[in-house]
Amino acid sequence: MTGDARTGELRDGLRVVRSRIDDACHHAGRPTSEVSLIVVTKYFPSADVLRLHDLGVRDVGENRDQEASRKVGELPDPVRADLTVHFIGQLQSNKARHVAAYADVVHSLDRTKLVRALDRAALEHERTLDVLVQVDLSGGDAGRGGSEPGQVSRLADQVEEARGLRLRGLMAVAPLGAPARPAFEHLADLADRIRADHPAATWMSAGMSGDLEDAVMCGATHLRVGSAILGSRPARR
Ligand SMILES: *Cc1c(COP(=O)(O)O)cnc(C)c1O
Repeated sequence: MTGDARTGELRDGLRVVRSRIDDACHHAGRPTSEVSLIVVTKYFPSADVLRLHDLGVRDVGENRDQEASRKVGELPDPVRADLTVHFIGQLQSNKARHVAAYADVVHSLDRTKLVRALDRAALEHERTLDVLVQVDLSGGDAGRGGSEPGQVSRLADQVEEARGLRLRGLMAVAPLGAPARPAFEHLADLADRIRADHPAATWMSAGMSGDLEDAVMCGATHLRVGSAILGSRPARR
């Protein structure tokens, strides 16, 4: 599969994005090793996940439960075992049990009900789930999920107490139609405060195809990049 045209496109996309990350790190005075790339494969088939794996990608992100579960299930065991699957989409608590079966990390925990549901599901599946608390940086104009900034510390405490969950840090999406930088600065500030109480919560998941430079500048440790690598969203089948 490594030789096909699609693999070439993905290789080029990865090269461009990795070089953008290198430049941004250089500009921010940060070592590239501090920044992980999660390739968001939503809307694209599991064949692309396989190609990305061939190209050295080890972290993939998905945002819809049904699609994610089907695609992860299609991967051969050794490839699956080699990947970290990040669930980054809005999550209903009645889906928590399903998501906990295949996701390694959940970035979108944004309410108490989900802490309980994910914890119970993780314990049932006899695994520990890494979770990030998602923050709504839009000032209430939600729609993309996330907890109010004022609630983040309480949620972080609840995750810390949940035996099936491991608090890794905070996640956010930049608000639509507003500059990303101030939003990511706000997130970095919240992440610092959370880290003061929870030293192991070192992750800051922020930055997508359009704003990864701003995110690196503000201290992001995990970038979630889709279209800049896989191309624009294909027609739904
Ligand atoms: C789709 C998605 C991304 C990736 O967005 P691109 O603009 O395609 O890079 C990142 N984060 C979340 C939460 C997403 O849903």
